[in-house]
Amino acid sequence: MRLSGMKIQPVDDLTGHRFGRLHVVTMLRDSSRTIERLYLCECSCGNAVEISHYDLWNGKKRSCGCLKGRGDRLQRAK
Ligand SMILES: [Zn+2]
Repeated sequence: MRLSGMKIQPVDDLTGHRFGRLHVVTMLRDSSRTIERLYLCECSCGNAVEISHYDLWNGKKRSCGCLKGRGDRLQRAK
């Protein structure tokens, strides 16, 4: 039996990844616990926000907040 076929890819550093509208620019605070790491993210609307590894990885945050409670049709940058 092969149970080891599934590879779980550990992602320690989210820098450079995209999550929804967020582009992870750099790590602001390192931590021995990966999910507690804090990143500086740039939203496609131009705002910069600080978001934890946990929120990014679990899809809790996909924008700076500009999508929250609004329709997805807000595409204006200005
Ligand atoms: Zn935004």
